[in-house]
Amino acid sequence: MPPQNAPVLGWIVALLGPFCLLGVLGFHFPELLTSREFRQVYSEDFARSLLLAGLVATFLLGTFSLLRGHGRRLSLLGIGCATLALLLGGATVEFEPIAPTPFSLGLDWFLISLLASALVFIPIERMRSAHPQAVLRPEWRTDLAYFFVGHVLIQFILISVTSFTSAVLSLALYPPLQSGIQLLPVWLQFLFAVFVADLTQASVHRAYHRYPLLWRFHAVHHSSRSLDWLAGSRMHLLEILCTRSLVLLPLLWLGFTPAVVNAYVILVGLQAVLAHANLGLRFGWLEQVLVLPRYHHWHHASDPAYAHCHFAIHLPLVDRLLGSYRLPADGSWPDHYGLQDPDAVPQGILRQHWQPFLPQRGGG
Ligand SMILES: [Zn+2]
Ligand SMILES: [Zn+2]
Repeated sequence: MPPQNAPVLGWIVALLGPFCLLGVLGFHFPELLTSREFRQVYSEDFARSLLLAGLVATFLLGTFSLLRGHGRRLSLLGIGCATLALLLGGATVEFEPIAPTPFSLGLDWFLISLLASALVFIPIERMRSAHPQAVLRPEWRTDLAYFFVGHVLIQFILISVTSFTSAVLSLALYPPLQSGIQLLPVWLQFLFAVFVADLTQASVHRAYHRYPLLWRFHAVHHSSRSLDWLAGSRMHLLEILCTRSLVLLPLLWLGFTPAVVNAYVILVGLQAVLAHANLGLRFGWLEQVLVLPRYHHWHHASDPAYAHCHFAIHLPLVDRLLGSYRLPADGSWPDHYGLQDPDAVPQGILRQHWQPFLPQRGGG
């Protein structure tokens, strides 16, 4: 049976069980598995309640799925992991005071982001989809793996980006400019920061499309043939490091206050997920002002007429300035997504990460 036809309930249980196990391991080894920055955002009680809800849901749904006789192996896998999570302490697991460590994984960031995104986007994509599509559409496991890696390695990404920007800025800071920017009201700084960041991002993005060596890496992002809230996670790790570093550089050089930079980082996280969502809502004039799903979906169209448009991720104005604005006025959506040569990028996160380094057999 092809994986995409496997029972949805069985897959939910098969994911929930391991997530509970990861949650318990996060309590056992918080200094290694949870991120120092994100730990400040939620309470221990919240994490315990979430773990308890996950365990209860795994056992209830797993039993129901087994009784229905579908997805037996998947359900048993989920129940097995949840049982192990219980044996390791469950939601009442004790843990030692958290010792500082130079590096940790962001398991908590992954689990809580996944839950929040799924709770928000799965229902609205079901109610107002642009294209009819199953939640567990083809290649969902690949994109979930990207979501996992992008979140779990958050500290590694942050450290790499910060090291790069600090090294460059130590050579070229101009304090009077920074002081001047910081005199502006915060709302104006924020608008300016979004514009500067998007102009930088769109220019870098255009370079990925223009230069074959860079395209090898960016083609991974364009290899998704089904778009939804999870699909935007598919991005080569080197592209994440390179784009984030280059976009953050002008923001720090111009000297926007940390609150403005943090607000921008939150916005880019939200808008990147929203832009890929399979969300067919009509936004009217707002589509001209903000990058929304239909706008970015045309960037992913396999139609060669749209191969080099919509590089912006925040403001369509940026594409108008770069000459890459091409949103159809009739409200239409692309029929197909992905690369013009669908076989140009292999399947699976590991092969997709390795392939750009191999000799290429042709353009994508
Ligand atoms: Zn692109
Ligand atoms: Zn995209």
